[in-house]
Order: sequence, then C-alpha cells, then structure tokens
Amino acid sequence: MNKRHKVTVRVEAHSDPLVSRAFAILKDRIQQRCPARVVEAGTEAGPAARIILAIAGDLSPEAFCIDQVGAAVRVAGGSPRGLLYGVGKFLRTSRYDGTFQPSPWRGTSVPQGSLRGMYFASHFHNWYHEAPEAEITRYMEDIALWGVNAIKISFPFINLQDWDDPQAEQAVVMARRYARIAKDLGLLFCIGVNNALFRGAPKRLRATPLPDPPHRRGNSGNPICPSSPEGHAYIMENVRQLFERLADIGLDLVVFWPYDEGGCACERCLPWGSNGFLKLSRDLTRLARGYFPNIKTILSTWMFDTPPEGEWQGLTDALSTDVGWVDTILADSHNDYPRYPLDVGVPGNLPLLNFPEISMWGNWPWGGAGAHPLPARFQRLWDQVKHVVSGGFPYSEGIYEDMNKAVVLQFYWSRDQSAWETLEEYIAYEFGPEVTEDVLAIIDILESAAGRSYLKQPANAEEAQRAYRLADGVNGRLPAWARQNWRWEILYLRAVLDCERFAGEGLETPAAEAAMVRLIEIYHCQLETDDPYHHRVRPPLRRAVSRCGEC
Ligand SMILES: [Zn+2]
Repeated sequence: MNKRHKVTVRVEAHSDPLVSRAFAILKDRIQQRCPARVVEAGTEAGPAARIILAIAGDLSPEAFCIDQVGAAVRVAGGSPRGLLYGVGKFLRTSRYDGTFQPSPWRGTSVPQGSLRGMYFASHFHNWYHEAPEAEITRYMEDIALWGVNAIKISFPFINLQDWDDPQAEQAVVMARRYARIAKDLGLLFCIGVNNALFRGAPKRLRATPLPDPPHRRGNSGNPICPSSPEGHAYIMENVRQLFERLADIGLDLVVFWPYDEGGCACERCLPWGSNGFLKLSRDLTRLARGYFPNIKTILSTWMFDTPPEGEWQGLTDALSTDVGWVDTILADSHNDYPRYPLDVGVPGNLPLLNFPEISMWGNWPWGGAGAHPLPARFQRLWDQVKHVVSGGFPYSEGIYEDMNKAVVLQFYWSRDQSAWETLEEYIAYEFGPEVTEDVLAIIDILESAAGRSYLKQPANAEEAQRAYRLADGVNGRLPAWARQNWRWEILYLRAVLDCERFAGEGLETPAAEAAMVRLIEIYHCQLETDDPYHHRVRPPLRRAVSRCGEC
C-alpha cells in the first residue's frame, strides 16, 4: 500500500478508554470504506497528523468542534462522548471514493435535546433479542455516532414463565450485555417496568381487563392487579429480583409504563393512569432508589385517556402536591401527539419526552418486507412537538428502520434539521454521495406505499416497478463495501418485495422468497419457533413455522 493511502491520526488524551474507542471506531469505519490504512501517530517524529482527536475543556460535555489546525483536521469533544459524536459528524461528511478525503465540515455543534434515547424492544426473538454480541456492539456504536445518549431495553417477561424458565438466565445475560455495551460507550442505560410480568404469573393475581375500544392498549392477559396485597407483593418482588440482577452493573433511568401492555380496570385501580398506576410507580421508585441511588424516573403516559377517563388531569392533580418521585414525563401516541401536554401543560411542570413509534406503522409483519423509511411521517410528527420536548425514546422493533432512527436522533440533536437533510448525510455516508438523488426517490416511493398500506388503499404498481428499477440501477453503481452493507441490502430487498407483491405475482415467487430468506438471515429470525409472538417480526415466508400458534 503506498504512502498516499496512509491516514495518520494523533490521539490526545488516549488513556481514556472512550477516547481510544473513538479512535478505533474512526479507524474501522474509514478502512471499511476505502483502501486507506489508518495509523495512530507515535510520540516520536513521524508524518504530520491528518486528523487530531482531542478533548476541549471549553466545550459543553456533549458538544463537539471540528476545525483546522495547520494541515490537520481537529475533531474535539467537550468530553470523550462529545468526541464520539464529533467523530460521527466527521465520518459522515468525509468522502471515500477510492481514497479517503477528510471532511470539509467546520464548526461547533451543541445538542439541543438533553435525553436522546432509543428503545430497543428486546423481545419476540427479534433482532435485539437474538443478534450476537459483536453485531449489537457495532450497531450501538453506529447509533452513538448519530448522537444517542441513552439506550432502553425491555426485559422479556412476556416470553418467560418465571425466573426458573430455561430462557430466563439468557434474558438476564442479554439485559446485562446491553447495559455493559451502553456504559462502555458512555451511554445511559434504561429499562421499563410496569404491572405486566411473567406469563406464568398466578391466575388469581391477574388484573381486570381494561376498556380498550381502539385495541391499542395491548393485553396478553398477563398484567397483575397491584391493589390486591398479594398482587402488589408479586410485582414488587419480581421487579426487585430484576434490579438485584442489574445491581452491580447499574441502571441510570427507569420508565414506568401504564399500558401496552399493562393496567388494571378493577374499581380500586381505576382510573389506572392517575390512580393504581401512580401508586405502583411511586412504590417502584422507592425500590429502584434503594438499588440505584442516582436513578432518574420517567413516567410514561402512553395511551392515557383513550377512552377519556380524566387520566391526564388526574396526573396533574396528583403531581401538584407530590412531584418528588418523578423526574420526567413521556407522552406520545401511535399517531398525532396527545393534546393535553401541548394545550394544558406538562403535569408537575416537568421536562417532556416523546416516544415516536418508528417500527410498526404501515407494515406487517414489522420489517417483514425490509427497510421501512418514513421521513415525511416523522417530520410531520416532529413539527408538532419540536419546541416543547427535550428528547425521547423512539420505539424500535429491529434494524430495518435504521433510517428512522438517524432522522429522529438528529431531530433531538438539532431540532430544525430536516429529515431529508439527515437522510442525505446518511446516504452519502452509507452508500456514497453519487446515489443520493436516486435513493431519496426510492425512499419517497416506499414511504408512499407504506401510507397506502396503512390506509388500506390499493398499491401503486407502476411506482413499485419504478422503485425497483431505481434500486437495481443504484445496486449496479455502488462500491462493493456499500453493496455488501446490510443497510443497502434491506433497502434493495424492500424494493424487490414491493415490486413482487404490488406489481408481480405476490410473495410466493422465487424472487420474493429469496429476498425473505435473506432478510430472515439478517434479522436472525427463527424459521421454526415456539414464540407465539415471533411471527410479528419475521418475514412472511410460506414455509416458516410458528408451533405455538399466532395471536
Ligand atoms: Zn386492580
């Protein structure tokens, strides 16, 4: 390899593990994209550094600055994590066609949102539940480069009988693995709890089913009534055991969920959101603080007042006299943002988060046809709340909506950066800048198809064919590193599958089946499963089997 392709980096403060990690990530991502060799400059005289990685005390901790120092580009963070965010911006704005061209972007960037979370719904044997550690680690690095600072997972109680279930230990290992990977990257670790625990919970403790006219509150029959002393003790003891299993590794945030699933409609719990739920969440806060003294609590209001039960107003009344146990309020819905916090104000005058559903809208099974970009949808929803929220936790069922993650994380970072500006940066970085226009056109067609599917309107066959032609053209022009990247594969396969199902002979053609087999591989799906929910996250391949039925 000739000297021209050597990229020398001077790493200041490299005794900090996260600074050396930022260098390792920079090196890996550059070397993946072009035949450059990235080397750390030694202390002795050598070639002048082209890149300097540094910590700058005059920046706020999460901010970064990219500037010119002589012939070198200096990427500086206000802390090691700020440096990681700066490396993300640097990598995305550098170019790689054959040779490495360092980013021309210069400036200082400070995040506007303070809690830029991502919720990995790690259940149903989806990608988060099944992927090997190396893939999860790399994926978390990738979204850290986009500005995430908190990772939330769910403990898959819904898939387990009790702590003696043969899969329980594996679930604990998974939760601890996420915590460790997050902390190694300087990210906060968060878990959600509520009154829905093991599916093996004693039947006599079960909650009274809720009124649920829109069928959006979720109910597998597992929730427990916390107003009975035995039910309360069951919830407290099992959450305590979960905390115990995370005690040494640490938990930074806990989210209390009212519904979807959860809740109880007995007369002692109703209205759940401003009565039974609040009492239980306050008790769980005490329990959590016993294990994790610095933990912050987030109270979710998901599906409050559907139907109207006065839950929002009841929460405002309750927090007007007793706010000490809640740090933040989370709100959102499957569609438009709830009006109450926007029109009346946030209960307790607390900071407000959103919870955009980036996974399920307009596709079934979730991710079953490949990539699912929805930039127009998330721009519209963001415009409703961008001046009032201080961040949020997008709900994610897998890696197929990776583009939505980037879009929302950048909204949190810089509220006026449009979804399409983010996607341009994404496409240039992941696929190369010369295909930006075509890929944006493909995304537009795929989003329209998802919208028609949501509204149960007939598909547009001509547009599906056009998306496929564009994708096939891009596929032929991509450099090998981009064509082999799963991010491109899932977008390409979505174009193939939309063409087969909307303009061809359906999902049982050889082309469609081959596309689904490849998606199943990428998602680590089970072709035969005992998980009654796995079909929700598995491409609908005809020969795939769900032994425990579908619900
Ligand atoms: Zn109850």
